[in-house]
Parts: sequence; structure tokens; C-alpha cells
Amino acid sequence: MSFLNLEHLEKSFGANHVVKDFSLAVEKGEFISLLGPSGCGKTTVLRMVAGFEQPDSGRIVIDDRDVTALRPNQRRIGMVFQAYALFPNLTVADNVAFGLRIAGMNRADRGRRVAEMLELIGLPSMGGRYPYQLSGGQQQRVALARAIAPRPQVLLLDEPLSALDAKIRVSLRTEIRNIQRELGITTIFVTHDQEEALSISDRVVVMNQGVADQIGTPHEIYNRPATRFAANFVGTLN
Ligand code: ATP
Repeated sequence: MSFLNLEHLEKSFGANHVVKDFSLAVEKGEFISLLGPSGCGKTTVLRMVAGFEQPDSGRIVIDDRDVTALRPNQRRIGMVFQAYALFPNLTVADNVAFGLRIAGMNRADRGRRVAEMLELIGLPSMGGRYPYQLSGGQQQRVALARAIAPRPQVLLLDEPLSALDAKIRVSLRTEIRNIQRELGITTIFVTHDQEEALSISDRVVVMNQGVADQIGTPHEIYNRPATRFAANFVGTLN
């Protein structure tokens, strides 16, 4: 069995069938992108993995543990959202320490872990600042530090770069990928940006109306799109 297993997930909101028989097996340390147009169900898949939404049916298994019925705080998941998700009234250091405090880590260990995280994201001297004193890119790096500080089993990234301007988007995605590799943390990254998904992922899931249309390496998706939708969406069919 793989490290993270999504098995036949189904989710509807009323009459809107948003996720349809969605299965995915992710190896430990893998970086997977969910790629698809707005509304195709990417965020809903992530929210089910995190435990914010309950699937109507199907299973989520992480490291041989069925977490489907567990609350978010009972799963070891870190998540980064689009933007502006830091606590505005807390310093950078306290934002990063937030999950550690909840986990019951003592003050000295928290201090060490926060320093280590700020070093990792390249902002070692910014612990005393408040989010509004940081650029958008710096805020997203802090959000990443906050998500990975408790050493989660799985990292979920929901369009973390989409609010940033193009130049920062490209440098930050490389940085995120390097940190992810260094820590060996299993990651699912949601994006509607084809180039982004193809450039940084081990494998890409092309999603179309709630269905995993194709799952493959960037090379496979680009060179051998399995469906007309995949070909269209990754831009190989014009
Ligand atoms: P986007 O990139 O625009 O966020 P997405 O691919 O992530 O798109 P989802 O956010 O998963 O798509 O939404 C898929 C569909 O489910 C949309 O039609 C959305 O309106 C609907 N939806 C999502 N969450 C809810 C909810 N809590 N209640 C009702 N409908 C919802």
C-alpha cells in the first residue's frame, strides 16, 4: 500500500456532484499536483484529506491508518491556503508556533523549532514582525513554516502562489519544492496553472468535473495526454 491512499472518494453538495470516484495513491515524499480548471473539485479533494469535509463515501488512508472519520486535529496534516491566512494579531514567530502550542510542545522546544523553521524559509530575523509588515511572498513562506512546523505527515497546498506576482511565483515555487524535498514531506499541491504543475511535480493529476482524467508524470501528461480534455488543458492541442 502507498503512504497516502484516496480510495473511491465521492462528494456532492446538494445536486452538485463535485468529486466522482476519485482514487489516488501517493508515495512517501512524493510531490503531486491536482491540476484543473476552476470548479473541477480540486479544493474539495484537499479539504476531504484535511478533514474539513467528510466524503459521502470512500476512504482516506495515511500510513496504514484509516483517517476518514477523524477530525482535522486528529490527522497529522499541514495546510497552506491561497493567501492572507496568517493570524494578523500574532507575530511571525507566534504564527509559526501556533500548531506547536496546540500540540503541547514546551516553550523552549517551541522556540528552537520556530527558529529552525524561520531559517528554513530564509526569514531568520523576522520572528518579531507582524504579517502586515511582510510582502505577500514572505507571508506565504511564513504560512508554509507554520504548516510544516509540527512535522505533519502530509502537506496540502491550495494555490499558495496564486495571489503573488509572476516573478515571485516562479522563485517561491522552486523554494517550496526544495524545502519539500529536503524534508521528504508527502505533498499535494492544487493549481489551475499548467506550467506550474508540470514544472515542479513528480506526478500530476488532471482533474475534469470531479474526475481524475489522467494521472502521470509531467512528461507523460505533456507528451501522451490520455484524453482530449487533458490535451486541451495542458496546451498540447491547439
Ligand atoms: P477553484 O479553483 O475555483 O477553487 P476547485 O477546482 O478547487 O475550484 P472546488 O472549490 O472544489 O473547485 O469546488 C467544486 C464545486 O463544488 C464548485 O461548484 C463549488 O461551488 C462547489 N462547492 C465547494 N464547496 C462547497 C460547499 N461547502 N457547499 C456547496 N458547494 C460547494
